[in-house]
Amino acid sequence: MVRPVRPFTMRCKDCGWSQTVIPLSDVLRFEDCPEVCPRCKSRDVNMEQATALEVAVAKVKRLFG
Ligand SMILES: [Zn+2]
Repeated sequence: MVRPVRPFTMRCKDCGWSQTVIPLSDVLRFEDCPEVCPRCKSRDVNMEQATALEVAVAKVKRLFG
């Protein structure tokens, strides 16, 4: 049974970096869920369920590149 992948937000506790990902398929790319913060190299990166606002912002960003 395949569970649909929901939008999620990767967030760094150290520097506040965040990235909301709306999966296009069940397959996640590596860069969608980094284990290390791309900004400060911290390993304190958590995956959270994206809020409606974060999903909206991610969709706008995708539209405008
Ligand atoms: Zn960071």
